[in-house]
Amino acid sequence: MNLEQDFVLKTIESRDVHFVRFWFTDVLGHMKSFAVIPSELDNAFQEGMGFDGSCIEGFSQWQEADMLAFPDPSTFQVLPWRPQSNAVARMICSVRTPDGRPFEGDPRYVLERQVRRAAEMGYGFNVGPELEFYYFKDDQGTEVLDRGGFFDLTSLDYASDLRRDTVLTLENMGIPVEYSHHEKGPSQNEIDLRYDEALSMADAVMTYKMVVKEIALKHGVYASFMPKPMADQPGSGMHVHQSLFYLDGGNAFFDPDNPAGYGLSDTAKHYLAGILKYAPEFCLVTNQYVNSYKRLAAGGDAPVAVGWSRHNRSTLVRVPSYRPNSENASRIELRSPDPSANPYLAFAAMLAAGLSGIEQQLPLEPPCEGDSCPADGVGRRLPESLGEAVELFANSQLMREAMGPLVHDYLVQAKRREWEEYQAVVTPWERDRFLAVL
Ligand code: GLU
Ligand code: MG
Ligand code: MG
Repeated sequence: MNLEQDFVLKTIESRDVHFVRFWFTDVLGHMKSFAVIPSELDNAFQEGMGFDGSCIEGFSQWQEADMLAFPDPSTFQVLPWRPQSNAVARMICSVRTPDGRPFEGDPRYVLERQVRRAAEMGYGFNVGPELEFYYFKDDQGTEVLDRGGFFDLTSLDYASDLRRDTVLTLENMGIPVEYSHHEKGPSQNEIDLRYDEALSMADAVMTYKMVVKEIALKHGVYASFMPKPMADQPGSGMHVHQSLFYLDGGNAFFDPDNPAGYGLSDTAKHYLAGILKYAPEFCLVTNQYVNSYKRLAAGGDAPVAVGWSRHNRSTLVRVPSYRPNSENASRIELRSPDPSANPYLAFAAMLAAGLSGIEQQLPLEPPCEGDSCPADGVGRRLPESLGEAVELFANSQLMREAMGPLVHDYLVQAKRREWEEYQAVVTPWERDRFLAVL
């Protein structure tokens, strides 16, 4: 037993933990879990805990339904919203096949593989996601809680107590929050996590979504990460700030001698060129539902065209202002992802695109500022629908390699099916518009 495992067992005693939940994530990014009693843990660390994967999205086509969950002791946390006597803790797990090999359908493993690829090139990968979401009075989303707007701080902002409770709970679980505020839409909020290495951050994003929902329920309301819950209000995004760092120290995106290039190093420029080249192909991963494409529409704050800039917030990638004395702040912000994405797969897809840009030494196109910026929809653009996204993804060699054939095949099938089902629906809009007049 190593030190971390030993620490877990000691904490279980000192904090009166009676249940340990094992968390893992299916291909679509839904959290799955089962509870284990503490006396089983010793064995679980050594040999894993068996579970039936046959009813889990993306796991079931694997010939073997029996899977093993190996808990990662560094992710041990007591759940603060559960009772503190006979308490409940969680650990995030890696999923393996019965013969002990990593399971290729485990999204955490997909991200681990890309992180390893970065490490082989000498880099680590930091991400800082900004998740937006709405609060509603019930799970039908019929009524919002307030009429507040961007950064409002008045009695209009009913959500400030909810945010406070959420931020404190996250911090209690070792997840530092950098920033939180009311967003543009009524009852729309944003809580930004302090950047971290991608794998820990993907674990943190899964926890974050659960905490936001749990705290909302505790206050008798409902939180939703649906990308575009209301037609006439802004959608919810998950902008992802990202940078590579050298494994032996220093930000690989930073070049103090290149202010004209926005302080970006050549590595950063190739990485960004890779993101721009492959964004349409990986869009299915960062924007995975029919509804995601209603957010990625012209006229809002979400991107449509493929381009980058420093000031223009409607571009796909923004390079936050150059700060010469702040090496760690050198980064790019990808603005297409939405919070319904599976964070493991989304971070893996971005990293794969950026690393390919570096490997191919792709040249960076000029920024799209002011008048040089093509109008929405002119030039290269992101897919307009799930149907378009899934075919771009299906034909992407990069995505097949990055996701692995199992996840790639599963997503293509599942998302084609979602698109076909959606297209078969006769909508209220059509009936309103046509029934009486045709
Ligand atoms: N809600 C916007 C989106 O859908 C982003 C607003 C912002 O700039 O933070 O991406
Ligand atoms: Mg925002
Ligand atoms: Mg942002």
